[in-house]
Amino acid sequence: MKHVIIGNSIACAGCIEGIRRISKEDEIIVISDEPYHIYSRPLISYWLSGKIPTEKIYYRPLDYYEKNKIKTILGKKAIKVDFEVQRVILEDGQEIEYDKLLIATGGKPFIPPIKGYPKESVFTFIKFDDVKRIDKELKPNINTVVVGAGLSGLKAAEALIKRGCKVKVVELANKILGSILDEFSAKKVKDYLEEKGIEFYLENSVVEILGKNKVERIILQKGEELKVDILIIAIGVIPNVDIFKDTPLKLRRGILVNERMETNINNVYAAGDVVESLDLITGNQRVIPILPNAYTQGKIAGINMAGGEAMYDGSFPINSIGFFDIHIMTGGINNPQENTEILEKWDEDTKIYKKIYIDDNKITGFIFINSFDRTGIIVDLMRKKVNISEIKHKILSDNFGLLDFPREFRREKIFGGV
Ligand SMILES: Cc1cc2nc3c(=O)[nH]c(=O)nc-3n(C[C@H](O)[C@H](O)[C@H](O)COP(=O)(O)OP(=O)(O)OC[C@H]3O[C@@H](n4cnc5c(N)ncnc54)[C@H](O)[C@@H]3O)c2cc1C
Repeated sequence: MKHVIIGNSIACAGCIEGIRRISKEDEIIVISDEPYHIYSRPLISYWLSGKIPTEKIYYRPLDYYEKNKIKTILGKKAIKVDFEVQRVILEDGQEIEYDKLLIATGGKPFIPPIKGYPKESVFTFIKFDDVKRIDKELKPNINTVVVGAGLSGLKAAEALIKRGCKVKVVELANKILGSILDEFSAKKVKDYLEEKGIEFYLENSVVEILGKNKVERIILQKGEELKVDILIIAIGVIPNVDIFKDTPLKLRRGILVNERMETNINNVYAAGDVVESLDLITGNQRVIPILPNAYTQGKIAGINMAGGEAMYDGSFPINSIGFFDIHIMTGGINNPQENTEILEKWDEDTKIYKKIYIDDNKITGFIFINSFDRTGIIVDLMRKKVNISEIKHKILSDNFGLLDFPREFRREKIFGGV
């Protein structure tokens, strides 16, 4: 059996490990337009800040391909898949046949139309090459602007501050980290980041990039003109489906798959940031672009590709992220409905914030800042849709734990009957 994987990132690692769980001998070919060994995208900001050296960015050891008997074709883009004859066509004309194909092409940066884009020293922030290019131009005290106050934009801003740059962040919404935080916690985190030196321009956007070849200044929607040496656009990531447009592969925003991670085309699977999957909390199919999802989906695809049986039962967004010394963990919804019950607690001394959204006695979302202690239990309760009516009054207390659950309940709901 010959397996071909397009994309050499987290979903790919999951797929390789899924295939190898079933077959040690099946042929595996990995194709990627990036020239690097499998690396962890969340670590690019740590590499840029100098927190980790290059050897720590890799997601798997350097002998990983060899040990798993993988043939790699790196630094070459797949430009087309001929599903009829089961072949992947590369940019240099090479054609690679497959028996089973995994599409793991991930996400690409979303760049809105901005007058004057592109220009030199204007970057995106999702690849190792992005931070390598930024690194070459970084000097202390230069003026840097990040567009987007989401997770990756703020990780970029943190790295730039750590490298001694002046950092401004421009964000269209009226709060930072809008997809994961509420007004209160977003304001607390913003205040904290301002103390660290980041200057925010909220409810604003970049309308024009000025400069001859290289960015020199930008004009914001509200009229400000900012001097800029480096501009980073980190607005968001969208599924990388370009080469599959106008093909029989079923797409919406991302590629549509079933529980086995199969697409609508025979012998073709997809996993990771490029697919839409079941959101266990909302019940909708959508792209949930986080690393653990990509890995699990890749693994399930790999097991099925190699002739095993595995099913993906869905997930929900969980984010665990730190900026300087602040730690944030969130999960599930962040847009409470009219009937959503809200439990909330803020401690000014410890700067610990906990908030839980409850719908129909089940936890549908949470925001925990500077407190990781009970988040594992919260995630478990959400995943298993446990009715928490009996323990609601205790759930935000500092010593809340498994012992607070009635015995039966603990066994059946939390440990699955052990
Ligand atoms: C800055 C940053 C920070 C993040 N932090 C976190 C975090 O803290 N926690 C978390 O859970 N997630 C985080 N994420 C998200 C996480 O990195 C992704 O969910 C994960 O990388 C998705 O893996 P993937 O395998 O689906 O695709 P990707 O990692 O997007 O990789 C896809 C690969 O396919 C290649 N490719 C695409 N098209 C082609 C083609 N036509 N031919 C050949 N190769 C192709 C791409 O170049 C790329 O190498 C972060 C992402 C970024 C950018």
